[in-house]
Amino acid sequence: MEKDRSLQPPPPHVLVFPFPLQGHINSMIKLAELLALAGFKLTFLNSHYNHERLVKFNNIAAHFERYQGFEFKTITDGLPLDHPRSGNWFLDMYEEALEMKMKSGFAIDVAKELEIPIIYFRTSSPCSFWVYYSIPDIIQAGELPIKGSEDMNRLLTTVPGMETYLRCRDLPSFCRETDIEDSIIKLYVKQTQKSSQADALILNTAEELDGPILSQIRTKCPRVYAIGPLHAQLNTRLKAKHGESYDHFSNTLWEVDKSCIFWLDKQPNRSVIYVSFGSITSTSREQLVELWYGLLNSKTKFLLVVRPNSVIGKDGEGEDVVVELMEKSKDQGYIVNWAPQEAVLNHPAVGGFFTHNGWNSTLESIVAGVPMICWPYFADQQVNSRVVSEVWKIGLDMKDICDKKIVEKMVKDVMVDQKEEFVQSAAEMAKVTNQSVNVGGSSYSNLDHLIEDIRIMSL
Ligand code: UDP
Repeated sequence: MEKDRSLQPPPPHVLVFPFPLQGHINSMIKLAELLALAGFKLTFLNSHYNHERLVKFNNIAAHFERYQGFEFKTITDGLPLDHPRSGNWFLDMYEEALEMKMKSGFAIDVAKELEIPIIYFRTSSPCSFWVYYSIPDIIQAGELPIKGSEDMNRLLTTVPGMETYLRCRDLPSFCRETDIEDSIIKLYVKQTQKSSQADALILNTAEELDGPILSQIRTKCPRVYAIGPLHAQLNTRLKAKHGESYDHFSNTLWEVDKSCIFWLDKQPNRSVIYVSFGSITSTSREQLVELWYGLLNSKTKFLLVVRPNSVIGKDGEGEDVVVELMEKSKDQGYIVNWAPQEAVLNHPAVGGFFTHNGWNSTLESIVAGVPMICWPYFADQQVNSRVVSEVWKIGLDMKDICDKKIVEKMVKDVMVDQKEEFVQSAAEMAKVTNQSVNVGGSSYSNLDHLIEDIRIMSL
């Protein structure tokens, strides 16, 4: 008998509100799409500035018309639209936003007051979440602050599950400040510990990747949904619904230079190292030149991303060096402002990823089975790179060093001398991770449970 639709409860309405950075938008838009695919009504709240860029560089209308009730709404980020937003501006804003939260209350306090269920989605890595959660214990045990550069390799004993590999050097970058009491780290810790009061916590990982750390987190936050890697989960579900040829949506905030794919098409299998440090990092002119010499001396082909305004030189110089390097490395390298990263990592010519270990980049590399060379910049990247190299053994960690000889050696190790081992371990990791987002896999089932639980919460 046909069900009377008027008797069915209306679909849950979920508001998704990312922090206005590329990495946060990427994973939160994927989560929003997954919930919309389940029939939920979705409101995605973006800053005016980022929404304009999303519309400019992606075919939003065509991609989102598949979802009923998916709505983009925008608010100001406090700056006029034509004002440049540098990496530093975002960092200042992040600090300000966290401070405001401390003064005015966290989203969780508001949600509790309004009696609305609240689910936290931490877009950064579970390992960094766990470290932030453990910081009061680290301080209590006298293991922080770090006592100078000679103290950086000391092993920490107070983060459960990480006793064998976590050094001071691998703590989130904000822990490097000497005045811990007065640092932004306090805000992070408070924000992280508030997570245990939420109705549930979503993490962009799979049980197979982060099982031991997830068990630790579950001792504090009992309802944790590990439903990642989200980009892979979304690909699986969209393919199942629309077939192989569904249009892949990249949600990029920069103009993608697709010419690098044509360049990659001409290179032999696994011969190119892809070099990119995400959407916020900046490098000094000297660091870029050192890195470039290392790449050149390794005799390995490279695809290098240098975002506009991301090179900092004396007296405003910086960008000019890129043109110079491009000219000099024509036969060996290709430089673009912004790459279609997922497509690049999945290209057969790519054999390694020189990365800052932003969590999205790390997951994209894992899913594509590409070994990494890690050069973390800030925040969770320091701990991510340690896990990549020491726990998963799918890469090498160059943390805190920028020396052309080391760059050359690491590129040769990953691309030539230890290629077999790295290719094998990265392939194994890719296999279990991709299985987790297929029907019957852990992330696939966890997402089904999350969808069901949100339906129940919203009744
Ligand atoms: N990205 C891209 N093209 C580039 C560089 C980065 O599409 O040339 C994307 C990348 O695929 C990833 C995101 O930008 O999804 C960066 O996020 P991540 O968490 O790795 O680093 P963040 O930018 O937050 O530091």
